[in-house]
Amino acid sequence: MPLTDLRDLQLHDMTALLAEAGEPAFRATQLCHWIYKRQATDLQQMSDLPEPLRQCLRQRLYVSSLTLLRQQQSTDGTEKFLFGLEDGNQIETVLIPAGDKRTICVSTQVGCAIGCRFCLTAQGGLVRSLRPAEIVSQVLYFQAPGKTPERTFTNIVFMGMGEPLDNFQGTVQAIRILTAEWGLGISPRRITVSTSGLVRRLEAFGRAGLKVNLAVSLNATTDAVRTQIMPINKPYPIATLLAACRAFPLAVRQRITFEYVLLRDMNDTLADAKRLVKLMHGLRCKINLLPFNEIPGVPYRRPHEATVQQFQNYLLQHGLSAFVRQSRGRDISAACGQLRFEERTTTRLTDHASQATMPSALMAQGEQGRERAGSAATLREGKA
Ligand code: SAH
Ligand code: SF4
Repeated sequence: MPLTDLRDLQLHDMTALLAEAGEPAFRATQLCHWIYKRQATDLQQMSDLPEPLRQCLRQRLYVSSLTLLRQQQSTDGTEKFLFGLEDGNQIETVLIPAGDKRTICVSTQVGCAIGCRFCLTAQGGLVRSLRPAEIVSQVLYFQAPGKTPERTFTNIVFMGMGEPLDNFQGTVQAIRILTAEWGLGISPRRITVSTSGLVRRLEAFGRAGLKVNLAVSLNATTDAVRTQIMPINKPYPIATLLAACRAFPLAVRQRITFEYVLLRDMNDTLADAKRLVKLMHGLRCKINLLPFNEIPGVPYRRPHEATVQQFQNYLLQHGLSAFVRQSRGRDISAACGQLRFEERTTTRLTDHASQATMPSALMAQGEQGRERAGSAATLREGKA
């Protein structure tokens, strides 16, 4: 029987598993304490569990960990970490210091199936989704006992490789572990999940009641342009996406962040800024403008500084909160859209560059996509 990774389990899963072995519920809390507070990766270390129980658990359980393969530091202080997974795949996690904030940008998939034309992660297609343990362990890495204080963090953004809502179960379960008292105990207000706009999943994510912040990658103001740069817009056009955003449960004072990658002459005109103001009408939101980070093989260009300023000013003058996000870590390819897995990774589940795969998969509600995407099965939005 394959071993179960303890860090994939919720507290109630552990309690049930221990009950099968005739153990009381408090043993599950002890296990959590070891794997999250003490960062134990070996059952043998868990000294307050009776030896026969440890022996018994070893037959069924283990604790996974990530292998740090490479660490790079940008001139602006941003650090990028390349981690190896148990199956040889690789993911990147980025640590971004800014003022008194230190933000960890975590990956949720190896690659991505969504196929946005401006994003490097899209170019290799999807290899696989990460397990909850693999997401949580990226965060735990920065909390490891013995680390210097500057290794700790204030915020977590799900903006690394992959589409978090395409890995719905992995993302939701990881967030439950990150925020639970028995887990890492991080406030959901410090966590932001960014999505390209898988609408059915977004609705389910709202129903999950996790209370984390939501960011939506809007990136265009007309369906024609958005479909051109983000194929996901075909099944879920702007009006459908924004209707789901309007219905998304928000706490008092909580706002949705809309990300807007500015591409020269594509979506950076004053007409776009005007349409954006109209689209945001009645939404509790803020806008993050991301001047495009140029990547090899992609025809788009970064807008001029002045255009970015003009765009932002128009939004500000019309009552929107709008920020220009200066790209961090561009010299080490750690900025938005620059993350990719190493070429030597295992078989991909989607075609290279995912030209037609993702949108058609979604439009067919998964049949074709499921075949091509194999066990990822995450393309089946209805299942969320
Ligand atoms: N898949 C999720 C989260 C990861 S992408 C999503 O798309 O929202 C995180 C952000 O980086 C998104 O807002 C995306 O639009 C932006 N991005 C992608 N490629 C970029 C690039 N080359 N330059 C600037 N921003 C980019
Ligand atoms: Fe995937 Fe996000 Fe990149 Fe689009 S922008 S390809 S959804 S990681």
